[in-house]
Amino acid sequence: MKVIDHINHATGTLVSFEILPPLKGKGIQSLYQHLDPLMELKPSFINVTYHRSEHVFKKKADGTFEKVVVRKRPGTESICASIMNKYNVDTVPHLICGGFSINDTEDALINLNYLGIDNVLVLRGDAAKNETTFEPEANGHKYAIDLLKQVNNLNAGVYLEEDLKNTTKTKFCIGVAGYPEKHFEAPNMETDLQYLKKKVDAGADYIVTQMFFDNAKYFAFVNACRDIGINVPIIPGLKPVYNKKQLTILPKIFNIDLPTDLSAEILKCKSDADVELVGAEWLLAQSRELKKAGVPVLHYYTLGRPNLVADVVKKL
Ligand code: FAD
Repeated sequence: MKVIDHINHATGTLVSFEILPPLKGKGIQSLYQHLDPLMELKPSFINVTYHRSEHVFKKKADGTFEKVVVRKRPGTESICASIMNKYNVDTVPHLICGGFSINDTEDALINLNYLGIDNVLVLRGDAAKNETTFEPEANGHKYAIDLLKQVNNLNAGVYLEEDLKNTTKTKFCIGVAGYPEKHFEAPNMETDLQYLKKKVDAGADYIVTQMFFDNAKYFAFVNACRDIGINVPIIPGLKPVYNKKQLTILPKIFNIDLPTDLSAEILKCKSDADVELVGAEWLLAQSRELKKAGVPVLHYYTLGRPNLVADVVKKL
């Protein structure tokens, strides 16, 4: 079932979770162990992130370095199918522009369609680790909106080989990313919102936000979206804080702020176990307020802490 149908048929706020594929070398069982406590909470859908290949330098026996390409977390599409089979829940694979030519993208979408997956979160992806700015593949997409338009084409039965006849129309429900604290490359919030509006006008069914720790920023973002005519559901993305290192890592990686009250509480903590308690309490308070405000879905980035997230959702 499509995410948008879950939202349109819901009688209250839904819950969804986001997971990463296991590191290469780990079996799917590690993923099931992560998901088991979460599935008890009957999520409406599970998102699975996409991780592109990276260039790394490997030291050789003679002391020189060799540049190799590694993909640390492969398998997004097949993981989605496995989760659907095992838990009978809808899944949302993330699909990015980075590393994909338009032909690779079409093949990936055809595979998802064969696997019975009706949802996709379309994203640009970040710059590769060896690059300072995002560079599309030769014959690849530069922005998420270009990828979105390719999904639209396939939904209309238009494949890259234009002479194909009687083609199957896919029926992907399309989500896109939004940034309550602005995407780090956008010159200002207004410009970023205009590009977001273009994604919605091009056919995005809903928006999922980058994580935020201050609900006021989400509410202001939703108001700003509504003011410029973005009327699709805006799903808040939430993540627990569970160690002190995140005080610097989260702002650095995700270009977000942590509120002063939260950072002050974390700095007082004597151990990471204490931080986890503070993080859980904060996440619960955020979730309760958002639910009271009638958000369509509470979407949790569970990465590394499924039990913490499960405990918070149980208390909602
Ligand atoms: P876009 O919408 O293409 O925007 C990128 C930047 O370009 C923005 O600054 C925007 O303002 C600007 N822009 C947009 N359109 C235009 C245009 N036509 N002309 C000029 N400027 C334009 N990354 C992964 O690699 N894998 C994942 O699984 C993943 N999951 C994510 C899930 C969520 C909910 C979120 C919020 C992010 C996720 N990301 C993931 C990270 C994401 O790929 C990065 O944030 C990336 O830098 C931007 O992606 P986007 O889809 O928002 O890009």
